[in-house]
Amino acid sequence: MMKSMDGFTGRIGWLEVICGPMFSGKSEELMRRLRRAMIARKRVQVFKPAMDDRYSEDEIVSHGDVRMKSEAVKSASEILAKLDWRTDVIGIDESNFFGTDLIEVVNRLADSGKQVIAAGLDTDYLGRPFAPIPDLLALAESITKTLAICMRCGNPAKHTQRLVESDDLIVVGAAGLYEARCRRCFEAGVPKQELLEFARPSYRFQQAAQS
Ligand SMILES: [Zn+2]
Repeated sequence: MMKSMDGFTGRIGWLEVICGPMFSGKSEELMRRLRRAMIARKRVQVFKPAMDDRYSEDEIVSHGDVRMKSEAVKSASEILAKLDWRTDVIGIDESNFFGTDLIEVVNRLADSGKQVIAAGLDTDYLGRPFAPIPDLLALAESITKTLAICMRCGNPAKHTQRLVESDDLIVVGAAGLYEARCRRCFEAGVPKQELLEFARPSYRFQQAAQS
């Protein structure tokens, strides 16, 4: 597998994708690469979806509380609108929240000579491929799949297990609402945990009110 393409020097555009379940270190890996680019004195811009405001409006924040300044955008096309065309490296966190519009945007950026690094969930709460990541993987020069640790058995985990009841594809949240599970322990949808405190809607609203 081709690793990060730090060795390239010319203005050749490319796309790198970092994908995996929640709690697998995607955002840390994205920030590590962006820091390397900054050290190499490249111009860097970082984008994240505006809907993901769980921790911070103008930063990307990993579950391990590593932070980096970022710009919140409401759509994939807003990335193009907010782009400073002198920028060399474009980081995109939570890419799965942008939908399929992101495919054309990142392709256009890479075609125009930019280094694009996109991080996101590759499967949803039912274990299905999560658009637009599958398309980005097919278009990318470099792919990194990160694995988490299964919260049930400790094995490498590729699934994001939803712990609360909802039919929505996207329920923004982190610890308590989701956990990492391996292939064997993953239960598509919501596991039979209705009796657990955190699975009750009233508990979730209490949590939201407190935070
Ligand atoms: Zn497991």
